[in-house]
Amino acid sequence: MAIRTRGALDGIPTYVPGRSAESVAHEHSIDDVVKLASNEAPFPPLPAALEAIADAAGSANRYPDDGAGALCEALSEACGVDADQVLVGNGSVELCRQALAATVDPGDEAVFGWPSFEAYPILAQQVDAHIARVPLRDHRYDLDAIADAVTERTRLVFVCNPNNPTGTVVDRAAADRLLARVPADRLVVFDEAYREFVTAPDTPDGVELLRHHENVLVLRTFSKAYGLAALRVGYAISRPDVIDALRKVRVPFGVNGLAQVAARASLGAQDQMRARVDSVIAERARLFAAIAELGLPVVESEANFLWIDLPTEAVALGAYSERRGVVLRSFADVGVRVTIGAAEENDRLVSVLRAAIDEGIVSQSS
Ligand code: PMP
Repeated sequence: MAIRTRGALDGIPTYVPGRSAESVAHEHSIDDVVKLASNEAPFPPLPAALEAIADAAGSANRYPDDGAGALCEALSEACGVDADQVLVGNGSVELCRQALAATVDPGDEAVFGWPSFEAYPILAQQVDAHIARVPLRDHRYDLDAIADAVTERTRLVFVCNPNNPTGTVVDRAAADRLLARVPADRLVVFDEAYREFVTAPDTPDGVELLRHHENVLVLRTFSKAYGLAALRVGYAISRPDVIDALRKVRVPFGVNGLAQVAARASLGAQDQMRARVDSVIAERARLFAAIAELGLPVVESEANFLWIDLPTEAVALGAYSERRGVVLRSFADVGVRVTIGAAEENDRLVSVLRAAIDEGIVSQSS
């Protein structure tokens, strides 16, 4: 007999991760598949992180530091906040879940832009939140419309900045306008998973916003710029009582010991991270120009990926590209997201896009 589970489970969408290079290689019998589907770094963890992981591996029989004290201390120094303003989680996606679980009672609302990070609606529905999805404007979070969507029942607002999947950012004035309108007892989460890739000077820094608006929670991660996606470590910064609330709904021992030492070692090598991120930013400009030159509707990005605004052709392009050994992320009827890879990988992507145009899979917009 079927076990009685919550009725709400039926409505929860399933998270669809980018396909692995291995599965695509196997399906299409191709040797060298390039994965540009999950916004990962094209380089391995920093040398200091690899060393720290190797050193700590032998102690894996012991539980990790449950409070990740040393890492929180290092993050508080790096971000210029107190240690009790920092919480680490099993990836920043886990901290998104904790932010919802700490603020939402069944029937309360979570508001975010759309399309945006696919995990938001999944996590919101896990806690029985009502969801208000506010359409992007010009591929960008429309913070005035988000402020309009906030109601008495709203408990949490996500601002994904830069936005995944479109790569756009909001500016400081728009962020301030939003924060002036959202009641001070509702949490506004600035999800800055791609913060390190931002070059647009007017982009707000969540930690700076927190100094002026106490209802801000900032989320960042070691998965992208630091290349530690497999280890699962992200962090939240807010005021101490908000951090305490998130701590209440965490899973004990949620951040593993190897992740803690690798993240700490990475923080100590920020110059090396910066050099790598700068190379991704340079590749982003080169790839943007190449895709624009092909006449495809590509959007300027502040993250480590580009958005190609091809709603009707998204699925066909994704499938075509996989058959040629380049894994992209296509969102049916929405568009296609491509991660900035290493230079050769990006070159392969451009050839596949060119071939897709030649074969009529996609059409040029200009
Ligand atoms: N926020 C955004 C906007 C993301 O794109 C991602 C990763 N796809 C995350 C959070 C979660 O990253 P992680 O859990 O690896 O820290």
